[in-house]
Amino acid sequence: MAGREGQILGNYRLTRLLGSGGFAEVYLGEHVHLGTQAAIKVLSTQLVTAGEVEKFRQEARTIAALVHPNIVRVFDFNVEEGVPYLVMDYAPAGSLRQNLPQGVPLPLETIFPLVKQVASALQYAHDQRLVHRDVKPENMLVGRQREVLLSDFGTALTAQTTTEQSTQGVAGTAGYMAPEQLQGHPRPASDQYALGIVVYEWLTGERPFKGNYIEVASQHVLAPPPPVREKVPGVSPMVEHVVLTALAKDPKSRFASVRAFAAALEQAAQNVGRSTPAPTVFPMQTPGAAVPATVNPSLETQYPSVSWGGAGNTPPFWAPAPHPENALPTIADAYHRPGPYAPASAPVSPEVAQRGISRRALLVTGLGGLALVGGGGALLILARSGTNTGLGNNPTQAPGSASPSAAAGTTSPTGTASETGTPSPTTTTSQTGKVVTTYRGHISEVDELVWMPGTGSLVASASFDRTVQIWEASTGTSRGLYTGHTDQVWTLAWSPNGQYIASAGKDKTVQIWDASTAQTMSLYTGHSAEVEAVDWSPDSTMIASASYDKTVRVWEALSQQFVTTFSGHTDNVWAAAWSPDGKLIASGSKDKTVQIWDAATGTLVRKYTGHSAGVPTVKWSPNGKLIASSSYDHTVRVWNPQNGSTSVVYKGHSDQVYGLSWSPDGSKIASASKDGTVRIWNAGNGTTLYTYRNHQGQVDDVAWSPDGTRLASCGIDKTAQVWLAG
Ligand code: ADP
Ligand code: MG
Repeated sequence: MAGREGQILGNYRLTRLLGSGGFAEVYLGEHVHLGTQAAIKVLSTQLVTAGEVEKFRQEARTIAALVHPNIVRVFDFNVEEGVPYLVMDYAPAGSLRQNLPQGVPLPLETIFPLVKQVASALQYAHDQRLVHRDVKPENMLVGRQREVLLSDFGTALTAQTTTEQSTQGVAGTAGYMAPEQLQGHPRPASDQYALGIVVYEWLTGERPFKGNYIEVASQHVLAPPPPVREKVPGVSPMVEHVVLTALAKDPKSRFASVRAFAAALEQAAQNVGRSTPAPTVFPMQTPGAAVPATVNPSLETQYPSVSWGGAGNTPPFWAPAPHPENALPTIADAYHRPGPYAPASAPVSPEVAQRGISRRALLVTGLGGLALVGGGGALLILARSGTNTGLGNNPTQAPGSASPSAAAGTTSPTGTASETGTPSPTTTTSQTGKVVTTYRGHISEVDELVWMPGTGSLVASASFDRTVQIWEASTGTSRGLYTGHTDQVWTLAWSPNGQYIASAGKDKTVQIWDASTAQTMSLYTGHSAEVEAVDWSPDSTMIASASYDKTVRVWEALSQQFVTTFSGHTDNVWAAAWSPDGKLIASGSKDKTVQIWDAATGTLVRKYTGHSAGVPTVKWSPNGKLIASSSYDHTVRVWNPQNGSTSVVYKGHSDQVYGLSWSPDGSKIASASKDGTVRIWNAGNGTTLYTYRNHQGQVDDVAWSPDGTRLASCGIDKTAQVWLAG
């Protein structure tokens, strides 16, 4: 192709070739009247038919409509003698391919600001239903403020519509192409995958798949990316986890959005080698952070690079981050799966991935399913379902609600009348305590459970076995499994709109996932210690998470945007509950207090000091007028959040009280205790109505079904049981 230097296209004289790619040459152009500079991208394809020209014009219009600080502006388009060209902003510093050192691992503090900007641009495009299709460092230009400018939206499509260039064009970018895009079905998640390859390349110095076009393409479809930490041992497991999630073969297993990917990477990056979390919000277009200072010494002095470690104590970037799964057995260990299986760092093998199992039906998590940390568990799950011993067969069901189970028969006949004495509208019946189902899908202690809001047909249970399992309340049939956590899951909350589940625990993360697909939407790593409680705001947008780091953090569930941090407790925070009107949060702590504070500002409203030991659970009454708090002091106290006055001290338990639940009508409370019982009692006067003794050992949690007819309880005996509330 002849060089076009000196030619005039429209108002621009092409002064020199800036570079050429698969289907175009890019020239520096000078406006013949104004003298301004622009980059002129001349497509090397000749558009023949009027239809093709029109199609390209339409596409140029779409691209020109993209106005975003991290997208190259396209401000003119024309076709001259069948030669289409675009006029766009000239980026004198060139592309990130040219600006970043090649073949060497880059530090996260270099990578992250770049990813953040590219993700922001992509999210903007995706929100307008536009898929970039050609995300790669060549298409990330460096702007005058050292910001990243994404270029070449949609040009891949153009190339594909024009016949013979297409193979070359696809081949040129196969290194970054998602499996589904290689198969002709690009979607927004394909851009996330490509960005994931870019991050992988920056982290390790090389792309995961090498070879000729066919070899690379088939690896994208079939081969797991080589573990990042095999190449660069110091990368934190969390960072690798995030990158491999973006690189999941199944687009549904990736993050729900490219924004969620960037947010997860940010959170993971913040946990590298630091004990206190960094600010959640990272400024856009941080000068100097966009390009490593090594590239251009003059700019280094102009824009000092960002230090992530705080003044003076920046740890070496690649220092290994302590992570629990290094020390603990994998879930596969726990299942005693016979024979060798892949080490924890190995992603799912192509053979396993190819078995044609409906992973959607299985609800294998995006995050743990294919990513390395949960790899052992995911392999196991697929293997189990492959041999038709899937989760549906796992739980041992009670014979059903029609006939009382053997377990129900052992229930001690602690009756209503014998303990209450007082007749009241809050009574129980002979049916109370009758076991509907006993769920045995967990292999360790079941710490918490929640009902699906609304119909109450499903229960989700969180266990020390590192999983959350979703099952049918009436039959115990397993409906889902979430394996995104790398350690014991201690707490979970179903969003009031039914869409998401938030789960958290010993691995210090809070994970937001789609309750119907188990896809990880958000991986929050803002806590520096174990997370003991999570709660949704009533509008299903925000999370309050309580941690052993003594804080409760309030943040937007999907964007992880910071809202507030409450630091009023002097010891581990064990409970956090949003008031029904969404304005206040009550938190309970090992420090024996319950504190009520403003959810938006973190300002303390009231401190309740009625308990003489730690407070593991705090629950607002359905109308928000009362609070019930359970304690290691063996009591549950019902008190008025307005003035702190105590109305009932329930003393029915003989040991520490853990979980508690208000009946939907607010008349009764069920409480679970280390004494092995669940007790149902009158919230107004504290009289015991019923004692459930069907668990072996301590009962960790109890929850009333949304319709008030059943209770679900769980505990150290590894079971979750649904029984009639009477
Ligand atoms: P590719 O993106 O595959 O490299 P392109 O034809 O899009 O192919 O671009 C060729 C090269 O021209 C790019 O790699 C980049 O170095 C340079 N380039 C593209 N657009 C611009 C621009 N707006 N300003 C400066 N350089 C650019
Ligand atoms: Mg390009």
